[in-house]
Amino acid sequence: LRPVSTTPRPVALSATLAVNEALARRARAGLPVLPLGFGEAGIPIHPALITSLSEAADRGAYGPVAGSDELREAVAGYWTRRGLPTTPDRIVAGPGSKPLLFALLLALGGAVAVPAPSWVSYAAQAALLDHEAVMIATPPGEGGVPSPALLADACVRARAAGRPLHAVVVTLPDNPTGTLASTGTIQKLCEVARDNDLVIISDEIYRDLLHDPAQTVPSPALWAPERTVVSTALSKNLAAGGWRLGVVRLPEGPFGARLRDSLTGIASEIWSSAPAPVQHAAAFAFGEPPELVERIDLSRRLHASVVRAVADRFTAAGAKVPRPRGGFYLYPDLAPLGDRLRADHGVTTGAELTGLLLERYGVGVLPGSAFGDAPEALRMRVAPSLLYGADDEQRLAALESRD
Ligand code: PLP
Repeated sequence: LRPVSTTPRPVALSATLAVNEALARRARAGLPVLPLGFGEAGIPIHPALITSLSEAADRGAYGPVAGSDELREAVAGYWTRRGLPTTPDRIVAGPGSKPLLFALLLALGGAVAVPAPSWVSYAAQAALLDHEAVMIATPPGEGGVPSPALLADACVRARAAGRPLHAVVVTLPDNPTGTLASTGTIQKLCEVARDNDLVIISDEIYRDLLHDPAQTVPSPALWAPERTVVSTALSKNLAAGGWRLGVVRLPEGPFGARLRDSLTGIASEIWSSAPAPVQHAAAFAFGEPPELVERIDLSRRLHASVVRAVADRFTAAGAKVPRPRGGFYLYPDLAPLGDRLRADHGVTTGAELTGLLLERYGVGVLPGSAFGDAPEALRMRVAPSLLYGADDEQRLAALESRD
Protein backbone atom coordinates (compact mmCIF):
# COMPACT_ATOMS: atom_id res chain seq x y z
CA LEU A 1 0.00 0.00 0.00
CA ARG A 2 1.19 3.50 -0.77
CA PRO A 3 1.96 5.48 2.43
CA VAL A 4 -0.23 8.56 3.06
CA SER A 5 1.76 11.76 3.36
CA THR A 6 -1.02 13.97 4.77
CA THR A 7 -0.50 14.78 8.44
CA PRO A 8 -3.80 15.07 10.31
CA ARG A 9 -4.07 18.17 12.43
CA PRO A 10 -2.82 17.18 15.89
CA VAL A 11 -5.70 17.63 18.34
CA ALA A 12 -5.25 16.42 21.91
CA LEU A 13 -8.08 14.62 23.67
CA SER A 14 -10.05 16.97 25.94
CA ALA A 15 -8.55 16.69 29.44
CA THR A 16 -11.77 15.39 31.00
CA LEU A 17 -12.23 12.70 28.36
CA ALA A 18 -8.54 11.76 28.52
CA VAL A 19 -8.97 10.90 32.22
CA ASN A 20 -12.08 8.90 31.38
CA GLU A 21 -10.22 6.91 28.73
CA ALA A 22 -7.28 6.23 31.07
CA LEU A 23 -9.70 4.95 33.72
CA ALA A 24 -11.50 2.79 31.17
CA ARG A 25 -8.17 1.18 30.20
CA ARG A 26 -7.44 0.44 33.86
CA ALA A 27 -10.92 -0.98 34.42
CA ARG A 28 -10.50 -3.24 31.36
CA ALA A 29 -7.26 -4.52 32.90
CA GLY A 30 -9.23 -5.44 36.04
CA LEU A 31 -7.73 -2.65 38.19
CA PRO A 32 -9.88 -0.59 40.60
CA VAL A 33 -10.94 2.89 39.49
CA LEU A 34 -12.56 5.91 41.12
CA PRO A 35 -13.77 8.29 38.37
CA LEU A 36 -13.70 11.83 39.78
CA GLY A 37 -12.55 13.51 36.57
CA PHE A 38 -15.39 13.72 34.09
CA GLY A 39 -18.33 15.97 35.06
CA GLU A 40 -21.22 13.64 35.67
CA ALA A 41 -23.97 13.83 38.26
CA GLY A 42 -24.00 10.87 40.60
CA ILE A 43 -27.71 10.15 40.25
CA PRO A 44 -29.59 7.67 38.09
CA ILE A 45 -31.65 8.76 35.13
CA HIS A 46 -35.30 9.07 36.13
CA PRO A 47 -37.64 6.31 34.87
CA ALA A 48 -40.18 8.91 33.68
CA LEU A 49 -37.53 10.34 31.37
CA ILE A 50 -36.83 6.87 29.99
CA THR A 51 -40.56 6.34 29.36
CA SER A 52 -40.72 9.65 27.53
CA LEU A 53 -37.71 8.69 25.38
CA SER A 54 -39.22 5.32 24.48
CA GLU A 55 -42.54 6.93 23.52
CA ALA A 56 -40.68 8.59 20.66
CA ALA A 57 -38.32 5.74 19.75
CA ASP A 58 -40.09 5.28 16.42
CA ARG A 59 -39.32 8.84 15.31
CA GLY A 60 -36.67 8.14 12.73
CA ALA A 61 -37.12 11.19 10.54
CA TYR A 62 -34.92 14.27 10.63
CA GLY A 63 -36.60 17.11 12.51
CA PRO A 64 -36.35 20.90 12.11
CA VAL A 65 -32.72 22.08 12.40
CA ALA A 66 -33.35 24.40 15.37
CA GLY A 67 -35.30 21.72 17.27
CA SER A 68 -38.91 20.51 17.34
CA ASP A 69 -41.71 22.99 18.09
CA GLU A 70 -42.58 20.88 21.12
CA LEU A 71 -39.05 21.21 22.55
CA ARG A 72 -38.57 24.90 21.77
CA GLU A 73 -41.92 25.73 23.37
CA ALA A 74 -41.01 23.77 26.50
CA VAL A 75 -37.59 25.46 26.75
CA ALA A 76 -39.14 28.91 26.23
CA GLY A 77 -41.47 28.12 29.16
CA TYR A 78 -38.53 26.98 31.29
CA TRP A 79 -36.71 30.30 30.80
CA THR A 80 -39.86 32.37 31.18
CA ARG A 81 -40.50 30.72 34.58
CA ARG A 82 -36.97 31.79 35.57
CA GLY A 83 -37.64 35.47 34.96
CA LEU A 84 -36.31 35.53 31.40
CA PRO A 85 -39.38 35.84 29.15
CA THR A 86 -38.67 33.83 25.99
CA THR A 87 -40.46 32.95 22.77
CA PRO A 88 -39.78 29.59 21.04
CA ASP A 89 -38.18 31.27 18.01
CA ARG A 90 -35.29 32.29 20.28
CA ILE A 91 -34.39 28.69 21.17
CA VAL A 92 -31.98 26.49 19.24
CA ALA A 93 -31.44 22.87 20.32
CA GLY A 94 -28.48 20.68 19.41
CA PRO A 95 -26.74 17.44 20.37
CA GLY A 96 -25.30 18.70 23.69
CA SER A 97 -24.13 22.12 24.77
CA LYS A 98 -20.56 21.41 23.64
CA PRO A 99 -21.37 21.46 19.90
CA LEU A 100 -23.73 24.41 20.39
CA LEU A 101 -20.99 26.42 22.12
CA PHE A 102 -18.57 25.49 19.33
CA ALA A 103 -21.13 26.61 16.73
CA LEU A 104 -21.58 29.88 18.65
CA LEU A 105 -17.84 30.59 18.65
CA LEU A 106 -17.77 29.81 14.93
CA ALA A 107 -20.75 32.10 14.28
CA LEU A 108 -19.33 34.98 16.34
CA GLY A 109 -15.83 34.76 14.86
CA GLY A 110 -12.76 36.38 16.38
CA ALA A 111 -11.24 36.49 19.81
CA VAL A 112 -13.14 35.51 22.95
CA ALA A 113 -12.47 36.34 26.61
CA VAL A 114 -12.75 33.42 29.01
CA PRO A 115 -12.34 33.32 32.79
CA ALA A 116 -9.20 31.76 34.28
CA PRO A 117 -9.78 29.14 35.51
CA SER A 118 -12.63 27.92 33.31
CA TRP A 119 -14.10 24.76 31.81
CA VAL A 120 -11.53 23.00 29.64
CA SER A 121 -13.38 23.28 26.33
CA TYR A 122 -13.92 27.04 25.89
CA ALA A 123 -10.27 27.79 25.12
CA ALA A 124 -9.77 24.45 23.35
CA GLN A 125 -12.74 25.06 21.05
CA ALA A 126 -11.50 28.57 20.24
CA ALA A 127 -8.07 27.09 19.41
CA LEU A 128 -9.68 24.57 17.02
CA LEU A 129 -11.27 27.51 15.21
CA ASP A 130 -7.97 29.44 15.19
CA HIS A 131 -9.66 32.09 17.34
CA GLU A 132 -7.74 33.65 20.16
CA ALA A 133 -8.95 32.84 23.71
CA VAL A 134 -7.88 35.58 26.13
CA MET A 135 -7.78 34.13 29.64
CA ILE A 136 -8.77 36.72 32.25
CA ALA A 137 -8.47 36.23 36.02
CA THR A 138 -11.68 36.16 38.03
CA PRO A 139 -12.38 38.45 41.01
CA PRO A 140 -11.36 36.81 44.32
CA GLY A 141 -13.90 34.19 45.38
CA GLU A 142 -15.99 34.67 42.22
CA GLY A 143 -15.17 31.94 39.74
CA GLY A 144 -16.72 31.76 36.30
CA VAL A 145 -16.54 35.45 35.44
CA PRO A 146 -13.60 37.50 34.11
CA SER A 147 -12.90 40.45 36.38
CA PRO A 148 -14.82 43.33 34.69
CA ALA A 149 -11.90 45.77 35.17
CA LEU A 150 -9.40 43.34 33.67
CA LEU A 151 -11.83 42.60 30.83
CA ALA A 152 -12.11 46.33 30.05
CA ASP A 153 -8.28 46.57 29.90
CA ALA A 154 -8.10 43.48 27.69
CA CYS A 155 -10.62 45.03 25.28
CA VAL A 156 -8.45 48.16 24.94
CA ARG A 157 -5.31 46.09 24.36
CA ALA A 158 -7.06 43.79 21.86
CA ARG A 159 -8.39 46.74 19.85
CA ALA A 160 -4.95 48.38 19.83
CA ALA A 161 -3.48 45.11 18.54
CA GLY A 162 -6.09 45.02 15.75
CA ARG A 163 -7.70 41.84 17.15
CA PRO A 164 -10.81 43.10 18.97
CA LEU A 165 -12.63 40.75 21.31
CA HIS A 166 -16.00 39.56 20.00
CA ALA A 167 -17.40 37.72 23.00
CA VAL A 168 -16.93 36.90 26.66
CA VAL A 169 -17.86 33.65 28.38
CA VAL A 170 -19.25 33.31 31.92
CA THR A 171 -20.17 30.13 33.79
CA LEU A 172 -22.92 30.47 36.41
CA PRO A 173 -22.42 28.65 38.73
CA ASP A 174 -18.86 27.87 37.84
CA ASN A 175 -17.00 24.80 36.72
CA PRO A 176 -14.29 24.19 38.04
CA THR A 177 -14.65 26.14 41.31
CA GLY A 178 -18.40 25.71 41.96
CA THR A 179 -18.57 29.34 43.09
CA LEU A 180 -21.16 31.85 41.86
CA ALA A 181 -20.39 35.38 40.66
CA SER A 182 -22.24 38.17 42.47
CA THR A 183 -24.99 40.29 40.95
CA GLY A 184 -22.77 43.40 41.23
CA THR A 185 -19.95 41.78 39.27
CA ILE A 186 -22.29 40.53 36.55
CA GLN A 187 -23.87 43.99 36.24
CA LYS A 188 -20.39 45.51 35.81
CA LEU A 189 -19.51 42.84 33.26
CA CYS A 190 -22.65 43.74 31.30
CA GLU A 191 -21.57 47.40 31.23
CA VAL A 192 -18.10 46.48 29.96
CA ALA A 193 -19.68 44.20 27.34
CA ARG A 194 -21.97 47.00 26.19
CA ASP A 195 -19.16 49.59 26.09
CA ASN A 196 -16.99 47.25 24.03
CA ASP A 197 -19.72 45.63 21.94
CA LEU A 198 -19.10 42.10 23.23
CA VAL A 199 -21.55 39.23 23.02
CA ILE A 200 -21.94 37.48 26.39
CA ILE A 201 -22.14 33.69 26.38
CA SER A 202 -23.63 32.65 29.71
CA ASP A 203 -23.16 28.94 30.33
CA GLU A 204 -25.80 28.10 32.95
CA ILE A 205 -25.64 24.31 32.68
CA TYR A 206 -25.34 23.97 36.49
CA ARG A 207 -28.00 26.60 37.31
CA ASP A 208 -30.55 24.13 38.70
CA LEU A 209 -27.96 22.59 41.02
CA LEU A 210 -27.41 25.64 43.25
CA HIS A 211 -26.89 24.24 46.73
CA ASP A 212 -29.09 26.86 48.41
CA PRO A 213 -32.51 26.82 46.74
CA ALA A 214 -33.13 30.38 47.92
CA GLN A 215 -30.17 31.65 45.89
CA THR A 216 -30.71 32.78 42.29
CA VAL A 217 -28.39 32.94 39.30
CA PRO A 218 -27.50 36.52 38.24
CA SER A 219 -27.82 35.78 34.53
CA PRO A 220 -26.38 38.58 32.36
CA ALA A 221 -29.50 38.11 30.19
CA LEU A 222 -31.30 40.13 32.89
CA TRP A 223 -29.18 43.26 32.33
CA ALA A 224 -27.89 42.81 28.78
CA PRO A 225 -30.75 40.99 27.01
CA GLU A 226 -29.75 42.33 23.60
CA ARG A 227 -26.32 40.62 23.67
CA THR A 228 -26.55 37.59 25.97
CA VAL A 229 -26.80 33.99 24.80
CA VAL A 230 -27.72 31.56 27.59
CA SER A 231 -26.81 27.91 27.34
CA THR A 232 -28.02 24.84 29.24
CA ALA A 233 -28.57 21.12 28.74
CA LEU A 234 -29.97 17.89 30.15
CA SER A 235 -26.47 16.67 30.97
CA LYS A 236 -25.92 17.78 34.54
CA ASN A 237 -29.22 18.31 36.36
CA LEU A 238 -30.83 15.15 34.98
CA ALA A 239 -27.62 13.15 34.50
CA ALA A 240 -28.38 12.59 30.80
CA GLY A 241 -25.05 13.75 29.35
CA GLY A 242 -24.83 10.67 27.16
CA TRP A 243 -28.17 11.47 25.53
CA ARG A 244 -26.56 14.57 24.02
CA LEU A 245 -29.07 17.38 24.22
CA GLY A 246 -28.31 21.05 24.75
CA VAL A 247 -30.20 24.28 24.11
CA VAL A 248 -29.32 27.95 23.71
CA ARG A 249 -31.56 30.95 24.35
CA LEU A 250 -30.68 33.70 21.91
CA PRO A 251 -30.67 37.46 22.60
CA GLU A 252 -33.63 39.72 21.94
CA GLY A 253 -33.91 41.87 18.82
CA PRO A 254 -32.33 41.86 15.37
CA PHE A 255 -28.94 40.56 16.53
CA GLY A 256 -30.62 37.49 18.10
CA ALA A 257 -32.47 36.81 14.83
CA ARG A 258 -29.25 37.05 12.78
CA LEU A 259 -27.46 34.79 15.24
CA ARG A 260 -30.27 32.22 14.99
CA ASP A 261 -29.90 32.15 11.21
CA SER A 262 -26.16 31.75 11.50
CA LEU A 263 -26.40 28.99 14.13
CA THR A 264 -29.04 27.04 12.26
CA GLY A 265 -26.97 27.35 9.08
CA ILE A 266 -23.95 25.89 10.89
CA ALA A 267 -26.13 23.20 12.51
CA SER A 268 -27.58 22.28 9.13
CA GLU A 269 -24.08 21.52 7.85
CA ILE A 270 -22.88 19.67 10.94
CA TRP A 271 -25.59 17.81 12.84
CA SER A 272 -28.84 18.51 10.92
CA SER A 273 -30.93 18.09 14.06
CA ALA A 274 -30.69 16.67 17.57
CA PRO A 275 -31.96 13.07 17.85
CA ALA A 276 -35.77 13.15 17.65
CA PRO A 277 -36.54 10.75 20.55
CA VAL A 278 -34.18 12.69 22.83
CA GLN A 279 -35.83 15.96 21.82
CA HIS A 280 -39.18 14.50 22.84
CA ALA A 281 -37.81 13.46 26.26
CA ALA A 282 -36.16 16.88 26.61
CA ALA A 283 -39.49 18.61 25.93
CA PHE A 284 -40.92 16.55 28.77
CA ALA A 285 -37.98 17.49 31.03
CA PHE A 286 -38.02 21.23 30.26
CA GLY A 287 -41.77 21.18 30.99
CA GLU A 288 -40.66 20.42 34.58
CA PRO A 289 -43.11 17.71 35.66
CA PRO A 290 -43.21 17.24 39.46
CA GLU A 291 -41.29 13.94 39.47
CA LEU A 292 -38.32 15.48 37.63
CA VAL A 293 -38.39 18.65 39.73
CA GLU A 294 -38.20 16.40 42.77
CA ARG A 295 -35.32 14.39 41.27
CA ILE A 296 -33.30 17.54 40.51
CA ASP A 297 -33.97 18.74 44.04
CA LEU A 298 -32.68 15.46 45.46
CA SER A 299 -29.60 15.70 43.27
CA ARG A 300 -29.04 19.27 44.43
CA ARG A 301 -29.24 18.27 48.10
CA LEU A 302 -27.17 15.13 47.60
CA HIS A 303 -24.37 17.06 45.90
CA ALA A 304 -24.56 19.96 48.35
CA SER A 305 -24.03 17.64 51.30
CA VAL A 306 -21.26 15.55 49.77
CA VAL A 307 -19.43 18.63 48.39
CA ARG A 308 -19.54 20.25 51.84
CA ALA A 309 -18.28 17.11 53.59
CA VAL A 310 -15.36 16.57 51.20
CA ALA A 311 -14.49 20.30 51.21
CA ASP A 312 -14.24 20.16 55.01
CA ARG A 313 -11.81 17.23 54.79
CA PHE A 314 -9.57 19.11 52.37
CA THR A 315 -9.70 22.23 54.54
CA ALA A 316 -8.84 20.19 57.63
CA ALA A 317 -5.85 18.76 55.74
CA GLY A 318 -4.59 22.32 55.09
CA ALA A 319 -5.74 22.90 51.49
CA LYS A 320 -7.40 26.16 50.42
CA VAL A 321 -10.87 25.36 49.06
CA PRO A 322 -13.22 27.90 47.48
CA ARG A 323 -16.67 27.30 49.00
CA PRO A 324 -18.86 25.91 46.19
CA ARG A 325 -22.37 27.32 45.76
CA GLY A 326 -23.57 24.88 43.14
CA GLY A 327 -22.82 21.83 41.02
CA PHE A 328 -20.65 18.92 42.03
CA TYR A 329 -17.06 20.06 41.79
CA LEU A 330 -14.37 20.96 44.28
CA TYR A 331 -11.29 22.92 43.39
CA PRO A 332 -8.84 22.60 46.29
CA ASP A 333 -5.60 24.52 46.03
CA LEU A 334 -2.93 22.20 47.39
CA ALA A 335 -0.13 24.82 47.41
CA PRO A 336 -0.15 24.96 51.26
CA LEU A 337 0.50 21.21 51.28
CA GLY A 338 3.41 21.53 48.84
CA ASP A 339 6.19 20.56 51.30
CA ARG A 340 4.32 17.49 52.51
CA LEU A 341 3.44 16.32 49.00
CA ARG A 342 7.05 16.76 47.92
CA ALA A 343 8.48 14.96 50.95
CA ASP A 344 5.95 12.12 51.12
CA HIS A 345 5.22 11.52 47.43
CA GLY A 346 7.90 13.37 45.43
CA VAL A 347 5.35 15.46 43.48
CA THR A 348 5.61 19.20 42.93
CA THR A 349 2.75 20.07 40.56
CA GLY A 350 -0.96 19.25 40.28
CA ALA A 351 -0.22 17.43 37.02
CA GLU A 352 2.31 15.16 38.79
CA LEU A 353 -0.12 14.58 41.63
CA THR A 354 -3.01 13.69 39.30
CA GLY A 355 -0.64 11.30 37.46
CA LEU A 356 0.29 9.66 40.76
CA LEU A 357 -3.33 9.36 41.90
CA LEU A 358 -4.23 7.72 38.61
CA GLU A 359 -1.27 5.33 38.39
CA ARG A 360 -1.12 4.28 42.01
CA TYR A 361 -4.75 4.39 43.12
CA GLY A 362 -6.88 4.53 39.97
CA VAL A 363 -8.34 7.88 41.08
CA GLY A 364 -9.16 10.17 38.15
CA VAL A 365 -9.00 13.92 38.91
CA LEU A 366 -7.76 16.88 36.87
CA PRO A 367 -4.97 19.40 37.50
CA GLY A 368 -5.78 23.13 37.65
CA SER A 369 -3.53 23.57 34.60
CA ALA A 370 -6.22 21.84 32.47
CA PHE A 371 -8.45 24.82 33.31
CA GLY A 372 -5.80 27.39 32.44
CA ASP A 373 -4.95 27.96 36.07
CA ALA A 374 -2.80 27.19 39.07
CA PRO A 375 -0.64 24.10 38.65
CA GLU A 376 -1.18 23.32 42.35
CA ALA A 377 -4.97 23.10 42.13
CA LEU A 378 -7.01 19.95 41.56
CA ARG A 379 -10.48 19.74 40.08
CA MET A 380 -12.53 16.84 41.28
CA ARG A 381 -16.08 15.80 40.69
CA VAL A 382 -17.41 14.99 44.11
CA ALA A 383 -19.17 11.69 43.56
CA PRO A 384 -22.04 10.91 45.94
CA SER A 385 -20.68 7.35 46.10
CA LEU A 386 -17.87 8.77 48.28
CA LEU A 387 -20.36 9.19 51.12
CA TYR A 388 -23.42 7.22 50.25
CA GLY A 389 -22.18 4.02 48.59
CA ALA A 390 -22.08 2.98 44.97
CA ASP A 391 -25.67 1.95 44.42
CA ASP A 392 -27.76 4.73 42.84
CA GLU A 393 -31.07 3.99 44.50
CA GLN A 394 -29.35 3.37 47.85
CA ARG A 395 -27.79 6.85 47.64
CA LEU A 396 -31.13 8.51 46.96
CA ALA A 397 -32.81 6.53 49.76
CA ALA A 398 -30.00 7.47 52.19
CA LEU A 399 -30.48 11.11 51.38
CA GLU A 400 -34.26 10.98 51.61
CA SER A 401 -34.06 9.32 55.01
CA ARG A 402 -31.73 12.06 56.34
CA ASP A 403 -34.43 14.72 56.05
N1 PLP B 1 -20.42 23.65 29.93
C1 PLP B 1 -19.86 23.32 31.09
C2 PLP B 1 -19.50 24.38 32.07
C3 PLP B 1 -19.61 21.98 31.40
O1 PLP B 1 -19.06 21.65 32.57
C4 PLP B 1 -19.94 20.98 30.44
C5 PLP B 1 -19.67 19.55 30.69
O2 PLP B 1 -18.79 19.17 31.41
C6 PLP B 1 -20.51 21.38 29.24
C7 PLP B 1 -20.74 22.72 29.01
C8 PLP B 1 -20.87 20.39 28.17
O3 PLP B 1 -22.09 19.82 28.35
P1 PLP B 1 -22.80 18.86 27.31
O4 PLP B 1 -22.63 17.47 27.85
O5 PLP B 1 -24.22 19.29 27.30
O6 PLP B 1 -22.16 19.02 25.98
